[in-house]
Amino acid sequence: MADYRNMWDDLGMDLEKHDLLCEALPDAFHEVYISQQDRPEGMDYYDFVVAEIHGVRPAELVEHRKKGGKVFGTFCVYVPDEIIFAAGAIATGLCGGSQFWVPGGEKVLPANTCPLIKASVGARLDKTCPFFRLADIYIGETTCDGKKKAWEILSEDVPVYVMDLPQMKREKDIAAWTEEIKLFLNKVEEVTGTKVTPEALAENIKLIARKRKALERLYNTRKNSPVPISGRDALLITQIAFYDDPERFSSKTNELCDELDKRIAEGNGVFPADAPRIMITGTPMAIPNWKLHHIVETCGAPVVVEETCTGVRYFENSVDETGTTLDEQIQALAKRYMKVNCACFTPNEGRVDDILRLVKEYKVDGVIDCNLQFCGLYSTESYLVQQALKKAGIPVMHLETDYSEQDSEQIRTRVQAFLEMLGD
Ligand code: SF4
Ligand code: SF4
Repeated sequence: MADYRNMWDDLGMDLEKHDLLCEALPDAFHEVYISQQDRPEGMDYYDFVVAEIHGVRPAELVEHRKKGGKVFGTFCVYVPDEIIFAAGAIATGLCGGSQFWVPGGEKVLPANTCPLIKASVGARLDKTCPFFRLADIYIGETTCDGKKKAWEILSEDVPVYVMDLPQMKREKDIAAWTEEIKLFLNKVEEVTGTKVTPEALAENIKLIARKRKALERLYNTRKNSPVPISGRDALLITQIAFYDDPERFSSKTNELCDELDKRIAEGNGVFPADAPRIMITGTPMAIPNWKLHHIVETCGAPVVVEETCTGVRYFENSVDETGTTLDEQIQALAKRYMKVNCACFTPNEGRVDDILRLVKEYKVDGVIDCNLQFCGLYSTESYLVQQALKKAGIPVMHLETDYSEQDSEQIRTRVQAFLEMLGD
């Protein structure tokens, strides 16, 4: 990585601690990514983004702020990026995916909090992530209990605005979410000092739609057999989508898809055509959480789709672009975002329907239902997910894990047994 020490220093980061994080990442990345065979050439861009993860994009955000622009940090796929960009601000994902940040979170949170929340809080309080330093304001949401309380703790250190997400999907809930998005728009205008016009919102609804379409195109290539790209690489691309410049991301992802289309036409893949095809469903996998994908794929089976927020939940469903007034556009946004099926909703039958649909679309042989440790929502919903899959005759295994490597060998053994069972 180029020398960004001055920038990190100016951002108030703990440079010594940050050095430890920077030392660990290249080895982990090499083991999980660079060691793969026959990677598409288009992965060079994403490899570069990771190599410069705390440099290039943060430097762009610093420039944006120098010109008076604002940065909004987000933690959930329900937060409408379209509004943030329409006010000339930049949205960046902040979910923490590294064990490195967990002890920092545990200083203020109970140990039995999910690692995603602990890592996100630790990344801020330990001052070891430039994105967490750069965001002018964090946007939280009322999805799970751990997050709701974490916002209160984080707000002692950084401005936090919380969106009140309804947890049912009746008409009145969609109306309430529409109102909540209006309040959010007001907040974005207040923070940026910029009035959001229908023209700007229309333009940025299209900008985010291009990003979603590029991801959809990428995932569609994974429906082929042999699969032209590994699940690890697809996961990395989706993780990067949360904080890269949306226009550049769309263009690079479409370039990669052109290459993948050629591979498909030539019948080239990264796994044998008869390897068992795996779907992962459950909690999000924030960068650099590549643990389960790495285990599954080094056991010989490609992950062909993720029913997670770092998978199809992030890009499926589009915003109706016909609205010309702010009211119409906000309604269209509310409808689209309420189609996301997070376990924080009750009932959440749409998620089970999605899983069964994706099994067919991606020709899945077996499903791994995996939740982060101490995630009460997803671990409880697992009962219904497993029941539906078993009823449909689709093999499923449930796993619970965290960001540490302690259980990796145990998970590997269980995954191997599951794959053997699929081969019988
Ligand atoms: S799992 Fe639920 S709370 Fe977490 S990012 Fe996804 S939608 Fe948001
Ligand atoms: S993984 Fe579960 S507990 Fe953790 S933030 Fe997401 S919904 Fe909350």
